[in-house]
Amino acid sequence: MRKNIVAGNWKMNNTLQEGIVLARELQKTLEEKTLKCEVVICVPFIHLASVVAEVKTVIVGAENLADKSSGAYTGEVSAAMIASTGAKYVIVGHSERRTYYGETNAVLKEKVLLALANGLIPIFCVGEVLAEREANKQKDVVSTQISESLFDLPTEDFRKIVLAYEPVWAIGTGKTATSEQAQEIHAFIRKTIAERYGSAVADSISILYGGSCNAGNAGELFAKPDVDGGLIGGASLSVDKFLPIVEAF
Ligand code: PEP
Repeated sequence: MRKNIVAGNWKMNNTLQEGIVLARELQKTLEEKTLKCEVVICVPFIHLASVVAEVKTVIVGAENLADKSSGAYTGEVSAAMIASTGAKYVIVGHSERRTYYGETNAVLKEKVLLALANGLIPIFCVGEVLAEREANKQKDVVSTQISESLFDLPTEDFRKIVLAYEPVWAIGTGKTATSEQAQEIHAFIRKTIAERYGSAVADSISILYGGSCNAGNAGELFAKPDVDGGLIGGASLSVDKFLPIVEAF
């Protein structure tokens, strides 16, 4: 059975001190609960080691990684460095990385390989922009993103990946995809995976929804058969907003 996962993405928010306080509060709150999903928080690089030291119930991830393994790449952070902090996950291909930093499917393929080689689980993000949705191109867009970055992986590596469908028009906009729109694309992604790796692998992959997911809509989204959890931006920045999403399962 595939895992249900709720993963926070802090983005470029919180000083180190604020991040430690938030992680500590989340740990304290969640350790008293019986959880029906894995809870992950993806945090800025500078928070990783300190946040790992604060949490047990929550698993820590990074938000990005370098597309090179080491060397003269000033300002970059490698997969090995991330793994050395105790982080277990890494977001790869978030739409903000694709849009603002020009990350292509080819670059993201390298990042996925480096993450896997260093024992990190990629949360690989796909999703269409508004113009592509309006042109009814969303399925073409996500299948190209997935196939160009992931479909050269051998089965034993592909099955370690977590996917996140994040329609770009829904990220940080307050405009959530309907649960029917999310289910339609999640089912399409699973079918696309089944055609390449077979249905047993497709059925084992967790596919998260991301895009203005909140306490009010998480329950309906997570109830859909192919929605295995969420990637949560804004609502992961406070325990009050994040907890009801975690408890939506
Ligand atoms: C995200 O950053 O992946 C995201 C889904 O953001 P938000 O929940 O704020 O839309």
